[in-house]
Amino acid sequence: MRTPKTLHDFYTQFPDEDACWAALRQMRWPHGFVCPRCGGRGSHRLRTRRLEQCRACRHQASPTAGTVFHKTRVPLRTWFLAIFFLARHKKGISALQLRRDTGLGSYQTAWTLLHKLRSALGPRPEFRLTGLVEADETYVGGAVSGGKRGRGAPNKALVAGAVEQREHSAGSLRLAVVPHASTAELGPFVRGVIDAREATVLTDGLPAYAHLGPAGVDHRPEVQGDPARAAEILPWIHKVFSNLKTWLRGTFHGVSPKHLPRYLQEFSYRFDRRAREAELFPFVLRRAVRGEPLPYARLTAEVVG
Ligand SMILES: [Zn+2]
Repeated sequence: MRTPKTLHDFYTQFPDEDACWAALRQMRWPHGFVCPRCGGRGSHRLRTRRLEQCRACRHQASPTAGTVFHKTRVPLRTWFLAIFFLARHKKGISALQLRRDTGLGSYQTAWTLLHKLRSALGPRPEFRLTGLVEADETYVGGAVSGGKRGRGAPNKALVAGAVEQREHSAGSLRLAVVPHASTAELGPFVRGVIDAREATVLTDGLPAYAHLGPAGVDHRPEVQGDPARAAEILPWIHKVFSNLKTWLRGTFHGVSPKHLPRYLQEFSYRFDRRAREAELFPFVLRRAVRGEPLPYARLTAEVVG
């Protein structure tokens, strides 16, 4: 699929709902329709209801079933436009801005749509971090005015991060919200994102990382004397944390810890594809087609953990 470079390109490529449904069908069934019930390959298109009906068993299948567009009442072209903006803007788009730009009826609809897309941007579990991997943790968010600052402040969330350290740049990034900076939380995070046979993990001297070596990870802790030294040992993860905080403040004016995990997914997704920004539209669209449906009730009920 071509990447629309401008809004004009977008409207040329997707002039109406039918064009979007055709694109979706093509992505869903690239080798022709396959019946999810009987595996049959022939179908009639029920145009008015945008369904495919299996010629063999008459099962009616929607190309949106099992995707993030599942049972949506928002026009598909509005979804595509949201993906275009999300992909086009280097720093992403807030629900407020998306509502303004697309004329969506409510803030809640715009918010839900963006979170459903973010939910499809998680790292692929088969790709693990390798080589030198910097691991660290940081507090994100917190009271904007008044209130306490620092570790105990309300609305602060602890984010664990791991990023590949390459010779002159960073490789791939993983972020997760963790409840505590403890061995029980940080250990499984690090072990879960690396390929232990291919990775050497660099951390500061925090005791929570001390068990990594005994757990079979090639681990090089550095006890830091002063903060400048920490930035020297772990340059990329510090840069990532700083950019993450700027992004959350700048684009979204802060986010609630409850929904932070999905913002972390979007941030890491962008980071890993920062050299391929121009191609993000088809990438994100493909993720949306492969993504799991996420009902609004589950979206709002999820808790940090
Ligand atoms: Zn069938």
